[in-house]
Amino acid sequence: MKSTMQANQLGLALLLRHACRVNGRSRIVSVTADGLRVEQTFAELAQRAGRLAHALEERGFPAGTVVGTLAGASREHLEAYLGVPASGRILHTINVRLHADQQAYIAEHANDEVVILDSQNLEGFASFAHRLPKLRLVVTVGSRAASVAPQVPCETIDYEMLLAEGAPRIDWPDIDENEAAIICFTGGTTGLPKGVAYSHRSIWLQAMSICTANSVGLSSNDCLLPAVPLYHVNGWGLPFAALMAGCDLILPGASMHPSALIALIEAESPTIAAGVPTIWSDVLSEMRARGLSRLGRLKSVSCGGAQVPHRLIDDYAALGIGMVQAWGMTETSSMSAIAQTPAWVSSADDRHRCASAQGRVVCGLEVRVSDLDGATLPTDGVAVGEIQIRGPWVTQSYLDVEDQNHLQDGWLRTGDLGTVDSDGFIRLTDRLKDAIKSGGEWIPSLALESAIRSHPSVLDVAVIAVPDERWQERPAAIVVLKPDETASAPALRAHLLGKVAKWWIPEHWAFTDAIPRTSVGKIDKKRIREIAGASIPWTLTANQEGASTSAAPSMR
Ligand code: ADP
Repeated sequence: MKSTMQANQLGLALLLRHACRVNGRSRIVSVTADGLRVEQTFAELAQRAGRLAHALEERGFPAGTVVGTLAGASREHLEAYLGVPASGRILHTINVRLHADQQAYIAEHANDEVVILDSQNLEGFASFAHRLPKLRLVVTVGSRAASVAPQVPCETIDYEMLLAEGAPRIDWPDIDENEAAIICFTGGTTGLPKGVAYSHRSIWLQAMSICTANSVGLSSNDCLLPAVPLYHVNGWGLPFAALMAGCDLILPGASMHPSALIALIEAESPTIAAGVPTIWSDVLSEMRARGLSRLGRLKSVSCGGAQVPHRLIDDYAALGIGMVQAWGMTETSSMSAIAQTPAWVSSADDRHRCASAQGRVVCGLEVRVSDLDGATLPTDGVAVGEIQIRGPWVTQSYLDVEDQNHLQDGWLRTGDLGTVDSDGFIRLTDRLKDAIKSGGEWIPSLALESAIRSHPSVLDVAVIAVPDERWQERPAAIVVLKPDETASAPALRAHLLGKVAKWWIPEHWAFTDAIPRTSVGKIDKKRIREIAGASIPWTLTANQEGASTSAAPSMR
């Protein structure tokens, strides 16, 4: 029997109608490309998004046109987030921190016809614009455009002038919920960037998931600061969740510098924030340097994208801020597991175990563990294998990629290694491509990094595999010490005794002043391997315990 329910389409048109008709008074505070503070209501946002959609229509860009963006977390970017897909066009967010060659590659593969960019990104864009055969219009936001505009092989127009061409409202008619709404490419840390096209339905469902209390938990009483670039997995879906919940939204603009974030937090009083661990660790260092002991009204931070050091969770707890770890990836529309502690957890040890897990899978998604031959392993918190995931906001395929190697019986192979326990908590041990296989056994680099990071002198660390004649691979640790600290490799090895299996303890150590990170703040192990590969061995071998390690190759 068919249900009797209405089959209205989920998606951005519905979200925009709700955002302006019901949550119309909620506010968005943003920092413009020129560094100015702008405040607008959701109703004003919807009007400007309407102007953008209408102006594109008037200029002959029909539904299905791909509109790229190269922009910071600004109100104009948010207007494009809504006006472009809610009118049936497709938004394509380009990572502003990628190399021009990679930006060209993804803009070409997404078939961008219009590109909206912050004026400071125009010069970089102009260097590869000729490689985009479909490009017809470039829209510049901010005032730094004039000098290089002629180098772009098509018409350019100022964003505000384009908006002035459009009427402030359109009807936001429903769109088939399975149509593509936004394209985002993976970061390319493990190969060429691959395109994921989120549907209206997947964006809607994921935003609802974020609003639930077991996830970020947003309501119209909140004020949210996503310290997340809008080009990274739809800003983790947070702007859509904010529009759904009617919570105030603070967009930090182009700069995620810790002092700029602290100033925003003090001035705008967000209650909830999000971002990668590096950003929140930098904020903490800046607070310490300035002797600050409070962060406005902030009560929780959803932190993920990379392993969150337990020390960081403890340090934020001491400020009265609950830092909750989250795990997800471009292919799963970001946050797919969140480490909220359930009420039945009573002991301090269990609380610690929950908080240091990557998270508990959210309702709507399912995870399983698989061995490398494809057999499903028990979800007992012990069996380590590849984490696989499926659900309505997990990608089925990549744009223009024929092979199905990323799937196993319809489950997405995440490339992450770890365990899942009987309560759905995921604990990662490694990324498949970063795993260290020593004498036929895995050494989990994430656990080893955590143990090294627990030494009081260590600021940051990355562990990679290096080739070894006897064991095939051995771990190598690249360490950044805190300023004025002098811990030696033997001291760090001694610190690890009793904390990890003896055979995990690295013989290879290097000290450097910064670990290379990707454009979204993850440890860039591919880059570290490239740099280290050229100068290995930089080793402290087992019979040289007393010797000092060689200086690391420069990691910058
Ligand atoms: P890229 O694939 O380019 O790194 P993504 O942002 O999609 O871009 O990265 C997703 C990956 O980031 C995950 O597969 C996982 O390896 C890592 N990751 C995300 N969250 C966490 C976390 N909380 N702890 C450890 N690793 C994480």
